[in-house]
Amino acid sequence: MTRLIDGKAVAAKVRAEVAQGVAEYRARHGRAPGLHVVLAGEDPASAVYVRNKERAAAEVGMAGRVHRLPSSVGTEALLALVRELNQAPEVDGILVQLPLPPSAHAEPVLLAIDPAKDVDGFHPVNVGALWTGAPGLVPCTPRGCLRLLDELGVELAGARALVIGRSNIVGKPMAALLLGRSATVTVAHSRTRGLQELCREADVVVAAVGRAKLVKASWLREEAVVIDVGMNRDEAGKLCGDVDFEDVHGHVAALTPVPGGVGPMTIAMLLENTLRAARARAGD
Ligand code: NAD
Repeated sequence: MTRLIDGKAVAAKVRAEVAQGVAEYRARHGRAPGLHVVLAGEDPASAVYVRNKERAAAEVGMAGRVHRLPSSVGTEALLALVRELNQAPEVDGILVQLPLPPSAHAEPVLLAIDPAKDVDGFHPVNVGALWTGAPGLVPCTPRGCLRLLDELGVELAGARALVIGRSNIVGKPMAALLLGRSATVTVAHSRTRGLQELCREADVVVAAVGRAKLVKASWLREEAVVIDVGMNRDEAGKLCGDVDFEDVHGHVAALTPVPGGVGPMTIAMLLENTLRAARARAGD
């Protein structure tokens, strides 16, 4: 029997916790935590993501707004906006939606964000804090994966954890979080040899690859807990993960579906990061 991990339900629980925290923050400080999103250009997927973030922030009672800039915007104008948001006391979280239009460079813009307001957790100061175990803001998707593992009650200390993928957004911070919980972590990537053998040894597998249905049941132990971060389209154009759900379901101990697993957790953790940032800035 495979336990399906209901990311929607856990995300709803996180959002309710955040809404409670926002109400308490507002009572104490006379204002709600503020999330400010910078959206440059007309990328349709980015527009949808930003709308979802805006709606989710409003639902938990947060303040803030979306700063829309034209697709011709240059790096300097973005830097000026980020500096302004860094200085503004009512701004607790700054998120620059990627990708930026070709007229702007992402790296200097992301580096300019005040690490205390960097709710995406991409700034090197926060990356360093994560790897050294210091307090900081942690990228939303891996934090969401960890929360799902915690909700399941998975014992991570001493567990063999395999992270497939080494991106700065998912794979590397996921590895750091699991290491922080004393798991024995292996990070696999496009140059890894013997991926199937590594999977067979793992108690926990986090797949963040971007390859539809890559991971098969025959690769996995029956005791394995499998977190599927992938968001891909299959041959029929249907949304699917990096794990072959039909094949793996029924074979492992627990599995996240796609959609409805990790996906809903990302925005929930963004809200949580914004509340954390607000509390930390206020010295709560
Ligand atoms: P990425 O392309 O930056 O990184 C993919 C990683 O997979 C790379 O490190 C690469 O080395 C590795 N890889 C590629 N082919 C491999 C193979 N055959 N075997 C082993 N490793 C291989 O992608 P990303 O940003 O980390 O995202 C990964 C997936 O997660 C994508 O499908 C993305 O859409 C999804 N994603 C979902 C969410 C969410 O909220 N649910 C958030 C971020 C990313």
